[in-house]
Amino acid sequence: MPHLAQSMFRLGTETAFDVLARANRLIAEGRDIINLGIGQPDFKTPDHIVEAGVKALRDGHHGYTPANGIPALREAVAEDLGRRHGVEVNPDHVVVVPGGKPTMFFAVLMFGEPGVEVMYPNPGFPIYESVIRFSGATPVPIALAEDRGFAFSADSVLAGITDRTRLIIINSPANPTGGVTPKSEIDRLVAGLEAHPHVTLLSDEIYSQMLYEGRQHVSLLSYPEIRDRVIMLDGWSKTYAMTGWRLGYAVWPEALAPHATRLAINDHSCVNAATQYAGIAALTGPQDAVHEMVRAFNERRKVIVSELNRLPGFRCVDPGGAFYAFPNISGTGLSASALQDRLLHEAGVAVIAGTSFGAFGEGFLRFSYANSTENIIEAVRRIGAHL
Ligand code: PLP
Repeated sequence: MPHLAQSMFRLGTETAFDVLARANRLIAEGRDIINLGIGQPDFKTPDHIVEAGVKALRDGHHGYTPANGIPALREAVAEDLGRRHGVEVNPDHVVVVPGGKPTMFFAVLMFGEPGVEVMYPNPGFPIYESVIRFSGATPVPIALAEDRGFAFSADSVLAGITDRTRLIIINSPANPTGGVTPKSEIDRLVAGLEAHPHVTLLSDEIYSQMLYEGRQHVSLLSYPEIRDRVIMLDGWSKTYAMTGWRLGYAVWPEALAPHATRLAINDHSCVNAATQYAGIAALTGPQDAVHEMVRAFNERRKVIVSELNRLPGFRCVDPGGAFYAFPNISGTGLSASALQDRLLHEAGVAVIAGTSFGAFGEGFLRFSYANSTENIIEAVRRIGAHL
């Protein structure tokens, strides 16, 4: 057995990939499985974006690019953020990376080490806790509660800060809950942070365009008083149905951008060139496909929430964003992972146990409604019959 570094045993994983593999194995054995497990849009990348990627390859964009991303792409990001959030962004502070995840890893590697604390949402995207542990830092959960619609409470975040806290990760709209934190709560957090100048924030805003019923996104970039300590993560994966292209970015504080670029040079050199050209087309081209996708998600959201609330032992709050429903299943008397396994093997429906997103996810399941309305209705029917 090779002698691995201790840190490797602290690294977690993302169970959604594991459930996907198990579901695919069952499908290969001839089973009929409806997959509400995976968190990616079921739409195709819009044609004009694909064409821009193909054209870039044909035009000979086959080489390395600047490590932080080609200038035209970083300028397009800055303009897009100006349009959407009314903020001014210097393209030199934008670092383009392969997807949303590398920014998390880089931010945690930059701040995490033994003896320091990093706060993170729980239930939350599993990679946060995983990479915090990997870095040797102590993960401090920000518990998210169903009775607040899974919005975080500014007071409890502020109460958790110690002089060892270096980084706080927040995520709204959120995975796995669909929770959206209201502006009033973000205002309170920002005001309270004045007393804690040693703390940096990583704001994961990858679902910023997936908001329903008139909700407006509030970017942490829109608070000038903390701009020098906000890392804002966003990307193309969810908004433009581009999960497999691997393209994301963060806006870093001026002092941190060169460190992020150095991590990129050490890690992957640059994102592949053609993908970056596709990313420009996505930001500068027509946005109809995005609006159409969000409209379709909203229709499905209404269907899944009302269907789940009819199941015995289930109770589902209204998710304001992203494309997940996170019902409380404690009334079934089963643990989240036991119910996840039974639904996969006996009902033919793949969903993810809330505990895959942290200990505070016990008693919940995550349903991704990035699937057809027909499949959603059939999946809930199967679950009802099984229960
Ligand atoms: N942040 C959140 C909250 C997510 O849910 C995801 C993906 O599911 C990501 C980041 C990562 O996105 P990417 O696939 O672009 O790395």
